[in-house]
Amino acid sequence: MIESLYIGGTMIYADYNATAPLRPEARAAMLAAYDLGATNPSSVHKAGRAARAVVEKARSEVGAAIGSRAEDIVFTSGGTESLALAIQGAVVALDGAATLIVSAIEHEAATKAAAHAGVPVETAYVLPTGQVDLDDLRARLAAWDRGLKGTPILVLMLANNETGILQPVAEAAALMREAGGLTVCDAVQGLGKVPVNVALLGVDYLAVSAHKIGGPQGVGALWHRAGAPLKAVLYGGGQERGLRSGTENVAGIAGFGAAVSQSVLELSRYVSLGPRRDAMEARLKAEGGVTVIGEGSPRLAGVSNFARAGFRAETQVMALDLAGVCVSAGSACSSGKVKRSLVLMAMGADDALAESAIRTSFGWNSHPEDFARLTDAWLEAHHRAAPRQQA
Ligand code: PLP
Repeated sequence: MIESLYIGGTMIYADYNATAPLRPEARAAMLAAYDLGATNPSSVHKAGRAARAVVEKARSEVGAAIGSRAEDIVFTSGGTESLALAIQGAVVALDGAATLIVSAIEHEAATKAAAHAGVPVETAYVLPTGQVDLDDLRARLAAWDRGLKGTPILVLMLANNETGILQPVAEAAALMREAGGLTVCDAVQGLGKVPVNVALLGVDYLAVSAHKIGGPQGVGALWHRAGAPLKAVLYGGGQERGLRSGTENVAGIAGFGAAVSQSVLELSRYVSLGPRRDAMEARLKAEGGVTVIGEGSPRLAGVSNFARAGFRAETQVMALDLAGVCVSAGSACSSGKVKRSLVLMAMGADDALAESAIRTSFGWNSHPEDFARLTDAWLEAHHRAAPRQQA
């Protein structure tokens, strides 16, 4: 059992999908990299070669975690840049002869990269289960006019950041392949929480980020299938085989490598959060009348998104914050500017539910007691607010 950073203290951190605390292994790897001194991996001298070794070790670690060759991995500044490189870099390589099909529940990093890619964008609908509608995708591809629309490129996440719902990526990628299309997978929330293997997924591009798994912020990677169309979107010194210019963040990359290796080693520990999450949801339903979003769908073990119609999400977040519990309303990047969840709306949730859903997410350093303490705090806040809701 691991000691929580916050247990016994004043705070319970249940916002891992926003960012996870830094793992000690990542911190140690970063400090070791900083201690190398001046580190530019492109320099040919001894110091540069030492930096290069650090970067290449991490590349192998990230590759091992997703079942890929190291050389097919490009380090970036995070998930956002990895998605921009995949989506826009594929479109550029295809000379714009492409149409993007973006699922209705993608993160803004994907939807906005697609919107700025300069080609038509279609929406892949999701079912009320929160999973992409494969029949709709199949029918759309069957009627695809390649002359008019070019290559179809699907953008589909592995696990949703708000609900934790897992997507049928392998099935969708197989449909795309049969239709001569491509698949970009946003695995930012899936990495380190479910097994990720690029060959089994059958995708062409896979975006990952360090800070969701206990690595540092501002580091990520894009895997691309050898031969998949991809051109750079940033130009400069030609680092990362010309696909991502800019001096590598050596210490950050070292931290990413250490974090990803550790998260794969601890996959079963993450999965073991599931029964505690389920027990939390059972109590919240029985005593607080909540609706659990995506309850019947395959989900990440450490995520619970639940709603209590009439109890506004921002009120819940503030009440929990006062009780020393950190959670999010809506997606992480919209925390602070709480708005109705587009993900829940895409799943067909009504306004009352979409306005009252909060996301709790646990991870590598969560303490088993965090679930019960969060439940107690939420029920107390709910009971306090209940008379006002009825008024
Ligand atoms: N994709 C998903 C599903 C995310 O949850 C996030 C972060 O919130 C991103 C992409 C963006 O990753 P980063 O913060 O590393 O740019």
